[in-house]
Amino acid sequence: MLASKHDKLPLIAPPLWREVGLEVVGCEVDTDALGTFAGEVPRTLSMGQAAIAKARLGMESQGCSIGLASEGTVAPDPVTGMLLCDIEMISLVDAELGVVVSEVVRDFSITAVSETVTDWQGVLPLLIRADFPAHLLIVRPEGLPIVDLPPDLLVKAIADEGSLRAAVERCIAASPVGQARVESDLRAHCSPSRRRVINQAAEALARRLASQCPSCSVPGWGQVDLLRGLTCQDCGMWLPRAQRGVLLGCARCAERVEVPADRQFEDPSRCHACNP
Ligand SMILES: [Zn+2]
Ligand SMILES: [Zn+2]
Repeated sequence: MLASKHDKLPLIAPPLWREVGLEVVGCEVDTDALGTFAGEVPRTLSMGQAAIAKARLGMESQGCSIGLASEGTVAPDPVTGMLLCDIEMISLVDAELGVVVSEVVRDFSITAVSETVTDWQGVLPLLIRADFPAHLLIVRPEGLPIVDLPPDLLVKAIADEGSLRAAVERCIAASPVGQARVESDLRAHCSPSRRRVINQAAEALARRLASQCPSCSVPGWGQVDLLRGLTCQDCGMWLPRAQRGVLLGCARCAERVEVPADRQFEDPSRCHACNP
């Protein structure tokens, strides 16, 4: 059962069928009630909580014991603050086994624009970077609160130049500052580059579900944390954040296995003493 409004089934069902023989069927639940991409319904849950809540909504509406949902966010990377990062999470809830199995994929190649324009000429250079019309656009007036906008001033899923131009001109006229904001419609059915990342997350989830816990045999065995702490190869300083390997774990029991990386020292280029 996949709780999704946005046409994610073809991205998620094939890997789960191929890897673990799980047949995923879509169901229509109002997942937008949990928050929307364009921002007119604010999100109050964390991404992980939202994905699990969505999965449970689908399970309740269909009366089945396994639920699946995906949740994404596109925002400046929290680490660098510069690159735009698409984080896609997919969660499977199995009520009978009592497990939640999730995977997260981060991607920095998403196609996304958000700019203001004062006339139609200003839109044209944007269209190449926005990969329009393969990626769809949203237009709204700048300077008005997004929550109060009527549908003709929060125009989504724009896919042709005629509609785009009409929306831009209407929003410029309605804006108190004479500007329209043109931005990528990042909902899954409107953004091919986001769709690719959702598919990668589904592939990762399918692989994780295909591995079982060596202790209790429940599916969903995989990385649960990073092992950290190495000394620098040159100066010998202890670097507590350096990645030393991964920790594998079970979705249900306490079984954990440390898998060290094949290196014993941190590269001096990542040492803050050798390379401040
Ligand atoms: Zn286990
Ligand atoms: Zn060093």
